[in-house]
Amino acid sequence: MDACFTAFDKDCDGYLNLSEFECICRALFRNDRGRVYSLSDEQVKDVFEIFDLDKDGKISRDEFTFCWNNWIKTIVRPVSAFLIIDVQNDFISGSLSISQCTAQQNGADVVEPINRLLDTVNFDAIFYSLDWHPSDHVSFIDNLPYRKVHPSSPVCAEEAQTYDTVTFDGPHLMNQRLWPRHCVQESWGAELHKDLKVVEGAVKVYKGTNPEVDSYSVFWDNKKLTQTTLNAQLNAKGATDIYVCGLAYDICVGATAVDGLSIGYRTILIDDCCRGVDLNDIERTKKTMISNHGVIVNSDEVKAMVEGRDRRPELGYKLALELRKKLESEGRGANDSSISSHIALTEEEVAA
Ligand SMILES: [Zn+2]
Repeated sequence: MDACFTAFDKDCDGYLNLSEFECICRALFRNDRGRVYSLSDEQVKDVFEIFDLDKDGKISRDEFTFCWNNWIKTIVRPVSAFLIIDVQNDFISGSLSISQCTAQQNGADVVEPINRLLDTVNFDAIFYSLDWHPSDHVSFIDNLPYRKVHPSSPVCAEEAQTYDTVTFDGPHLMNQRLWPRHCVQESWGAELHKDLKVVEGAVKVYKGTNPEVDSYSVFWDNKKLTQTTLNAQLNAKGATDIYVCGLAYDICVGATAVDGLSIGYRTILIDDCCRGVDLNDIERTKKTMISNHGVIVNSDEVKAMVEGRDRRPELGYKLALELRKKLESEGRGANDSSISSHIALTEEEVAA
């Protein structure tokens, strides 16, 4: 770290100024084929200001220690989790086969590229999610007669068709899209596709188990009432980056990726390992990802990213923003003496 600081402190004044910091960013954000990715001037300035903890317009050696431990280390050596979402029979060839939906995509197409990633990339953790509904689940159209639809519903119970959205009555009104019965617990339709590799040590996460609320995201149910175990398990593994793929692109994959970003993970969507329901919704999902500092890649780009050889500026910027949030919530600002104790702590952690 000291050598790095000294190397980039071109004018040898014991501090990094903005242009010296920009050189660090140029060295950091590049791929293994020598392509340099650029952060915008504004983004470089944002990041510089985040690590200029005492706001004196320059980064001291102490401040650089904080930057090194909390930012550069993650960029160079990310801890990567692979999330394979709902690659289940019902979504591929069963009752809710996405091939019947408007985008007319084939869910089975994701199996081969996902298997290839499992074979070739050394992820730090692997998760498979399963849509896992009880028989009386709120999302099944054939269960519609068993619940009360609110008068404000865009479609009334008598006229509702599959894929329509209705508003259910209750203490809190709830919009719910109606699907054919699918992924019923312990049924064939809920099983993972037979050709999908299930690696040893991987974790299965079950969602949609509450009959009264649907769950698109693997983190939360749609009403954010209950969390799955995913976030705790990612935390336990020290995951910094999550690679998201599977079915369906614009529903569960998209919801999971967006939640991943909002929780604070550097989130990467693997485009060719996803298939979806509706082309417009897929485009909307991609736009939301990008505007929230997520990254969309093809599966052949993943290995170099996981190994820290291909380092994306969007993810670096995202991490810096998360650190800023953390610093602000801890009340760290100008001339805060707790900064140095914080640095000491992280150094101890690193040594441990
Ligand atoms: Zn479902």
